[in-house]
Amino acid sequence: MSDFRQELLEAMQEIRTIDCHSHTCLKSQYYKAGQRNLFNLMSYYEREINSVTGKSSDEIYAEAKSDAERWEILKPIIDCTRNESYWRHNIVMYREVFGLKDEDLNDDNWENLNEAIKLKSTEPDWYHNITKNVCNIATQIRNIPWFQDWEPEYFTAVLRMEGALELHRKNMRESLEKYLDRSFDSLSSLKEGLADLVERYQKRGSVGIKLAHAYGRTLASDDVPDDIASNIFAKALGGGSLSSQEIKQFQDNIIFFLARLAGEMNQVFQIHTGVQGNWGVIPNSNPLHLIPLIHANKNTRFDLFHAGYPYSREMGMLGKHAPNVWLNMCWMYVITMEGSRQSLSEWIDLVPGHRILGFGSDVGWPEFIYAHLVMARSCIADILAQKVERDFLSKEVALDLVKKMLRDNAIKLYGLPEDI
Ligand SMILES: [Zn+2]
Repeated sequence: MSDFRQELLEAMQEIRTIDCHSHTCLKSQYYKAGQRNLFNLMSYYEREINSVTGKSSDEIYAEAKSDAERWEILKPIIDCTRNESYWRHNIVMYREVFGLKDEDLNDDNWENLNEAIKLKSTEPDWYHNITKNVCNIATQIRNIPWFQDWEPEYFTAVLRMEGALELHRKNMRESLEKYLDRSFDSLSSLKEGLADLVERYQKRGSVGIKLAHAYGRTLASDDVPDDIASNIFAKALGGGSLSSQEIKQFQDNIIFFLARLAGEMNQVFQIHTGVQGNWGVIPNSNPLHLIPLIHANKNTRFDLFHAGYPYSREMGMLGKHAPNVWLNMCWMYVITMEGSRQSLSEWIDLVPGHRILGFGSDVGWPEFIYAHLVMARSCIADILAQKVERDFLSKEVALDLVKKMLRDNAIKLYGLPEDI
């Protein structure tokens, strides 16, 4: 390992990192969720369990009466999938957080590991210690579902807006009406309600809005005129059923409204791009579909997620040509370390360094944040050391870049206090 790679790793450990995308369980929920153990402390590997068995964790262990029986169920699944990055995320956590000494899990070491997880995760200071001291994280930019709360000691809020795309449905509309204590009789009153909802959260400290519509539909949207969308919404209000084309037109109109609103209210617009779950329609998630939205809203700052993987090269060019786009590596290092290195390495050649966000944990349990961070630091050190060695990047710029990517860029983008 080169001396400079080591220097970069040490520099990154000292940086009070801003986690640019989080779903971490709140502290108050963590201790209510019951004891963690080897079988329920899971993150994305849950998806591989599903991919291999067609079932969830709860289902595969439904008949098991002991941890020994659970281990016998898990073992053949691991055997199929232990090469994958989602499993290695677990391994890094077992080693770095719970003291596993071996390279992988086996018949001889699982029991000790299971006991270590049970013991540590019930300690009263554990949650605080892992997020604040072990991870050295200043704050996590956390997705907050509608009407829910957060813990400002650990989190900075971003309001999730998928609900806004479902307001043609009566039950979703009624829940927002109830929360805002008013009723919607037109598209314009609906949009006023959405603006008020965003403002309420903004007043409490929320820094942005987020859409993850690429899980269920295409990112491509047209700037549908208000009169067309108004008629569609009126039809929904009257109890008429909408065609799939009408639903898309309604949603597109709302998406353009949200992008404009984010610019006017100085809120960052975070959008999920790339990687989905099992059976995802991959081309729907291509960030290039967002070009009309991004070009029509030049005053809005777009924060595009997951390196757009596998469209990371496209996203690099999108970031190069659109100065209102920030490129966010959230989730990426646990998806693929090699894909992360390639993406970052190209982006650093292409995009101004102040618009690259180097880390977002994107996990549920705090223990997985640290494992993700270890994988992220390793990839960042690999590519920067290599760029210094062979791509004419100076050491000074490389060291400056790690500070920008892990902290300074996020402070500026989300408007956080400098001393956070
Ligand atoms: Zn996420």
